[in-house]
Amino acid sequence: MEGRKVIGWAARDQSGHLSPYSFTLRETGPDDVVFKVLYCGMDHTDLHQMRNEIHSTNYPLVPGHEVVGEAVELGSEVKKFRVGDIIGVGCIVGSCGECFSCKSNIEQYCNNRILTYNGTYKDGRPTQGGFSSAMVVHQKFVVGIPEKLAPEQAAPLLCAGVTAYSPLKQFNRSDKVVKAGILGLGGVGHLGVLIAKAMGHHVTVISSSDKKRVEALEHLGADAFLVSSNSAEMEQAVNSLDYILDTVPAVHPLHSYLSLLNVDGKLILVGVAPNPLHFDSVDLILGKKTISGSFIGSIEETQEILEFWAEKGLTSMIEVVKMDYANKAFERMERNDVRYRFVLDVAGSNMES
Ligand code: NAP
Ligand code: ZN
Repeated sequence: MEGRKVIGWAARDQSGHLSPYSFTLRETGPDDVVFKVLYCGMDHTDLHQMRNEIHSTNYPLVPGHEVVGEAVELGSEVKKFRVGDIIGVGCIVGSCGECFSCKSNIEQYCNNRILTYNGTYKDGRPTQGGFSSAMVVHQKFVVGIPEKLAPEQAAPLLCAGVTAYSPLKQFNRSDKVVKAGILGLGGVGHLGVLIAKAMGHHVTVISSSDKKRVEALEHLGADAFLVSSNSAEMEQAVNSLDYILDTVPAVHPLHSYLSLLNVDGKLILVGVAPNPLHFDSVDLILGKKTISGSFIGSIEETQEILEFWAEKGLTSMIEVVKMDYANKAFERMERNDVRYRFVLDVAGSNMES
């Protein structure tokens, strides 16, 4: 069926400034879900992309990849959803379906994955994200939001939540208490704390200042808090952690963080530094340590984190804002002034101005 007209908010150039933008959704096929966008989380990756910091950005760019919506129209082959269902879409909306990653249900690692925005769809058109009144997505890349979850609470789980959940799952095979470090207490980091705690890990937050100490310990339930510039505090924690989830979105020296890891410890990079990171080989060799990376999670894991969240009764700390606040919200995100995730109330916003 012919694509419908929608209004999104797009960045037009590297300033990243967002403003209203009318465009047409792609034509729908038998496997597509058309949905009205209700809420969309705001991720630091949106900011990187709006400013052309990590992938080459095609403008106009409608960001947003933590999208919760209400299904309004279903293709003839869509059996797992009904009109009116509350559904979610994360960072990818397509993959080849044939490679090792696709066949192993880790389609986020497919070399031909199609990103939710700033990608090119199979019909050659640019993909556009959830800062938009509606979207159309192939059913394989759509997850169901559990009834127990408020839609605005579910939004950050679709990228930030699964980004923490996917790499942390590997530690659940341990029969001793896992000593976790969460580096950077922002959108991904605060969900990392909640998820790691719910998995039974002992959680240490490593933050760039003292400002979030009380919140980390009292509101999020972390067990310990380190300020990375406080060398006495850092010194005391040397060799104490099994892993560190590194969510820092900037270049940062790795030496002091690697020293916090115990023998065999893992530094898991999820934060995207716009320029190369450096490390000393002896920091890894003298401790059999590993630096690894992780990209979001699979569609299966995205559904899993939603169920896990609902089952454990977890609550994220979000600030719900309207579309006309989006530019200001990104400014605040950049200043590290958000507790801890902005979520756009898209359906409740006037998208035209
Ligand atoms: P965010 O909300 O801005 O949080 C980042 C946190 O890192 C800040 O709250 C701050 O925490 C710390 N930080 C910021 N600048 C820093 C600096 N210059 N040096 C040291 N610490 C700094 O961002 P986010 O949305 O959580 O995203 C974090 C990163 O993960 C981004 O680079 C994003 O692109 C990336 N990401 C990757 C994936 C993936 O699949 N791998 C998925 C989602 C996001 P403190 O105040 O505690 O220091
Ligand atoms: Zn593939």
